[in-house]
Amino acid sequence: MAMTDKAPPAPAPGLSTIGVVGAGVMGVGVAQNLAQTGHRVLLLDLNQGVLDTARAQIRQNVRFHGMFSGTRGGPSPSEVLDRITFTTDYGPFAEADFVVENATEKVPVKESIYPLLDRVCPPHACFAANTSCISITRIGSWTGRPDRVLGMHFMNPVPLKPVVETIRGYHTSQQTVDTGLRFLRQMGKEGIVVTDLPGFVSNRVLMITINEAVWEVQDGVASAEDVDRIFVTCFGHKMGPLATGDLIGLDTILHSLQILQESYGDPKFRPAPLLVKMVDAGLHGRKTGRGFFDYSVPAAAPAAA
Ligand code: NAD
Repeated sequence: MAMTDKAPPAPAPGLSTIGVVGAGVMGVGVAQNLAQTGHRVLLLDLNQGVLDTARAQIRQNVRFHGMFSGTRGGPSPSEVLDRITFTTDYGPFAEADFVVENATEKVPVKESIYPLLDRVCPPHACFAANTSCISITRIGSWTGRPDRVLGMHFMNPVPLKPVVETIRGYHTSQQTVDTGLRFLRQMGKEGIVVTDLPGFVSNRVLMITINEAVWEVQDGVASAEDVDRIFVTCFGHKMGPLATGDLIGLDTILHSLQILQESYGDPKFRPAPLLVKMVDAGLHGRKTGRGFFDYSVPAAAPAAA
């Protein structure tokens, strides 16, 4: 798998049924990666329409996975889909050994989910929050098991990214960190453990970079194409900051900046008005077909990292 060169270890008993909350950009990638590495997956979102789209995306992604990862002979799309239960109901989570939560990057949204998980999941289940910026300590406080809550900042597209920023909240136990790292190895990934402050390592830097690039376009310093071209050609980055924002989702970038601004009380995270305007206009990047770049014509879109 792309995840790493070596085949990941088979899911261990007690860490084989995985709940995945949110079936958007990240939830689809996490669910696919888990099913491809032999886990039983419970994928939950708010309505059947989102789940139907997720099912179709996973089918298509698995079909192309061998091509992009350079590996063939993995499970077929139907084998992968057979391992996933698509649900709008938390009931099946009574069997979850571990949960990865990937819902919208808004505090009230995530805050509504954790008490539900806490109620239905078995006591041994750990909760991994896949969040761009929200404090893991704060998320842990919404449960009765803050020692079993940690952060897992997966990178996008999940099946192709071998490393996960893994965040230890204030109350996260060493046993939970060890379980989390074992879980990631089962997915074919490695975790880098960091401590908890909003944005962690990656997004505290990345969100400001993307935002500043938006300010540059807004101020007329350069076009979006030229801003990105400078990063790609001068610095050797695989993608420029604006194409990266389009890949992540400009709505997620905006929500992340708002959370960072509120968390640190620091105006350096103030979102560029152009970013707010684009999100209001529905230009959320790749997932809506248009952001700083147009994805309706595939050849015109900058290549993904
Ligand atoms: P997204 O908008 O594509 O998907 C979010 C999903 O959550 C949607 O399908 C939505 O219906 C669902 N949802 C909303 N409220 C819910 C609820 N109460 N219960 C269940 N599902 C609910 O967002 P995304 O890009 O997949 O991001 C998900 C999380 O992952 C966010 O916290 C984001 O910050 C984080 N993240 C995103 C990226 C990225 O590149 N997009 C990378 C790392 C981490």
